[in-house]
Amino acid sequence: MASAGNAPLWRELLDLGVLQAQGGWLLVFTLGGMVAAALYALLSLVAWRPVLKPAIVVLLVASALGAHFMWTYHVVIDSAMAANTLQTDWHEAHALLTSRLALVVLAGAALPSWLVWRTRVHHRPWRQQVLRNLAGASVALLLLAGLLLLSFQPLASTMRNHKELRYLMNPLNTLYAAARTVAGGARAKGALVPVGQDATLLAPGGKPRLLVLVLGETGRSGNFGLNGYARDTTPELAKLRPASFASAWSCGTSTAASVPCMFSPLGRDGFLARAGDTENLLDVLRHAGLAVLWVDNQPGGCKGVCDRVPTVNTSGLHDPALCAHGECHDEILLRDLDRRLDGLPSETRRNGVVLVMHQMGSHGPDYAARTPDAFKRFLPECTSSHLPDCSAEQLRNAYDNTIAYTDHVLASTIGWLRARDDYATAMLYVADHGESLGENNLYLHGLPYALAPDVQKHVPWITWLSPGFEEQSGLSLQCLRAHAQQRVTHDHLFHSMLWLMQVGTAAYRRSLDAYAGCAAH
Ligand SMILES: [Zn+2]
Repeated sequence: MASAGNAPLWRELLDLGVLQAQGGWLLVFTLGGMVAAALYALLSLVAWRPVLKPAIVVLLVASALGAHFMWTYHVVIDSAMAANTLQTDWHEAHALLTSRLALVVLAGAALPSWLVWRTRVHHRPWRQQVLRNLAGASVALLLLAGLLLLSFQPLASTMRNHKELRYLMNPLNTLYAAARTVAGGARAKGALVPVGQDATLLAPGGKPRLLVLVLGETGRSGNFGLNGYARDTTPELAKLRPASFASAWSCGTSTAASVPCMFSPLGRDGFLARAGDTENLLDVLRHAGLAVLWVDNQPGGCKGVCDRVPTVNTSGLHDPALCAHGECHDEILLRDLDRRLDGLPSETRRNGVVLVMHQMGSHGPDYAARTPDAFKRFLPECTSSHLPDCSAEQLRNAYDNTIAYTDHVLASTIGWLRARDDYATAMLYVADHGESLGENNLYLHGLPYALAPDVQKHVPWITWLSPGFEEQSGLSLQCLRAHAQQRVTHDHLFHSMLWLMQVGTAAYRRSLDAYAGCAAH
């Protein structure tokens, strides 16, 4: 299992050039040894007469299947993949059952399983067996730790630069993914706590409101010209004079941590301490009778937030101008938006519409891939996804180009909203977390919150209101601009959105409404 079963891992190390580099072979032997030690430790703990052989057989089957699919389809096995596998329907799976798979299962699982089954194992009285099992697991874990220390430097840097490698470690990847899926399923199985079922539309009448919430990706507040950045990264927005809160702070330092938290009614502390999952902002809007649509340009989707509202994913579309290299630039979010909006049920549109547009934004490490050529205003830019290869200046240029493109996407969104004068329109842009661009040798994001530098947590929060919206709501951009230094966090998003959409519910808290200071309540 640790050698042939990890053929896809060895192939990947070869493709990445790690194997050919100095110390490459040592790294391979260390990795193989670590997988072997981990498997030995696991099997030591289940070395009891009724379970040992079945456990080995399960691992062999998982190894053979995992190796086959990773080798053939260049996939990795993570919990999303495990969830996909569990949700696959038989017709889809049918195409995967090839004669080569049968051969791999025969040679990699059936034959060794038969040999294992024939092997006589001497089990001891249970007291002795407990000691032997614990000793076996301890020795294996010590070996694992020893190997880890032996090549910590090259191993850590390889794993950091190529995060996909950890999902290739067979069959540990399958065990880990299955455990996470089961744990996630257990939590999700607890009934979803309803929120805001009392929600109603306050003061109906007049034009319905249409709000586009642009959920930004990896936005650093400090790199926005609107927030006083020395470079003019936001020229188009500057002309439209939106209001920008310069002191906005994220809930987490990664998409998976921040996005569900942003839409939660619980706030950061409550969200982290929650015993079960609750409904979110989108559910409350739904309860109030509003139309909600989630348009997603990330292949990773909405992290469960949009599960109960209509959803469109644009990341796999084939627009020749916007989707050249297997992903789509964010302007794709605006394509067909009139048709999508007009397709929502008219009885809910009457009450108001919230469109969430989830950007690809400034997703790293390949910043250069996020921007169309026309928006590469800061050159030369870093084009490697191995970020330490680039100079600080190239890295900053590549990142700032993504902000300049986001500026264009946001301004285009406002342009679209201005044309929809059948609604009172507004746009809110908030990013999920920030990014490190080499400061203190840190790159990307996702550090534990308490350790993460401010640049990973300091996010943009930009509000634009049409004159019709200002008039109807009594909220003015002028007042918001005067409050630009007011501190807000993702905790404010839930309550601020309810107020913007005139939704009344006991779940609303004025103290967490970022617009309360300027609103005539
Ligand atoms: Zn993110």
